[in-house]
Amino acid sequence: MYKSFLIKYAEIAIKGKNRYLFEDALVQNIRYHLERVEGTFHVRKENGRIYVDTEGEYDYDETVETLQRIFGIVGICPVVLVEDEGFDALAKVVCDYVDRTYPDKNFTFKVDARRARKNYPMTSMEINAAVGEKILEAFPETSVDVHHPEVMIHIEIRPMINIYSTEIPGPGGMPLGTAGRAMLLLSGGIDSPVAGYMVSKRGVTLEATYFHAPPYTSERAKQKVIDLAKKVARYSGQIKLHVVNFTDIQLYIYEKCPHEELTIIMRRYMMKIAEHFAEEGKCLGMITGESIGQVASQTMQSLAVTNEVCHMPVYRPLIAMDKQDIVSIAEKIDTYETSILPYEDCCTIFVAKHPVTKPSLKHIKKSECRLEEKIDELMQTAIDTTETILVDAE
Ligand code: ATP
Ligand code: MG
Repeated sequence: MYKSFLIKYAEIAIKGKNRYLFEDALVQNIRYHLERVEGTFHVRKENGRIYVDTEGEYDYDETVETLQRIFGIVGICPVVLVEDEGFDALAKVVCDYVDRTYPDKNFTFKVDARRARKNYPMTSMEINAAVGEKILEAFPETSVDVHHPEVMIHIEIRPMINIYSTEIPGPGGMPLGTAGRAMLLLSGGIDSPVAGYMVSKRGVTLEATYFHAPPYTSERAKQKVIDLAKKVARYSGQIKLHVVNFTDIQLYIYEKCPHEELTIIMRRYMMKIAEHFAEEGKCLGMITGESIGQVASQTMQSLAVTNEVCHMPVYRPLIAMDKQDIVSIAEKIDTYETSILPYEDCCTIFVAKHPVTKPSLKHIKKSECRLEEKIDELMQTAIDTTETILVDAE
């Protein structure tokens, strides 16, 4: 019954002169995402409003679900748009609307009229009262409650009259493409896909790097990471994924360095290589799924030592979050089920029984001196043999 959706966006409305840039990005993102939905859609901007108009048959549920994944959208209102043909015609349309939207008429309501066009012959208050009366006449089971109505019927007098009573929540955030690019270190775990989602929600375009260690990690572990990237791409759009073969570097560290320092040294080389691709891709920062105290390599001391190799800012959106809160987001964005599949990732295989939890930078650097002979060459080979995959939403 709805041919149009009114798209509400809050935060971007306050960006002053840049406002149109944000709105245009949002319009473009909506067009991009709706291309995958069955139906014909027209997205337009009008007087600080974005509308999605549909043409012919379309899948309502799929359309709404798709809009709910577009960052920058705060609310999605299925709306009825009518020409102004006088008050009686309007009242009739509103009553039809109520009849079709609410089969069960046992509800309280309030009419909330607004005039964006002040030349309408009635004031907002007059419209509220008159339309309210018509609804009560047509559906005597309904009643008015101006303080806590169950149904709020919005009537906005614009060039077209907008009638709506439902606002489906959107994801919020900022439109993609309005904040630059960042490199996500994407593993097969629960945390990093959530971290990527969160930063992307602020309008940041994602690129990703995954380190695997064949034959210690399987082809299925790699496929799992690609699957996770596909899930994140449903929100963030296409992700350029770099798959780095990390085996020789890992074996070399294993051979030369104290095993309790293995994870931390490995993490430092991961950051270095990821930063190489980040610079190449003109990223403005890197993103990890680290959270204080979660594991030995994520104590404040460990994080400081890992961070020391990076020149770019490293964004860690989960830094102060508890696991359960991270899991809730993973469930919401549908990455959780994939993340908990049991394939080994490259960190779990070489992990020491008693890893250092308070590494000192001096010590770690001293251990790394033992890698001098071959590490540059191994890093170069890892970079040269990296596979790049363009991952689209599934
Ligand atoms: P996750 O659930 O994201 O795997 P984790 O709790 O397993 O995190 P770690 O293994 O210590 O934590 O990794 C911390 C962060 O380092 C990850 O969130 C991710 O950003 C990055 N990272 C770890 N392993 C890899 C990998 N194999 N490839 C790419 N990034 C990785
Ligand atoms: Mg992990």
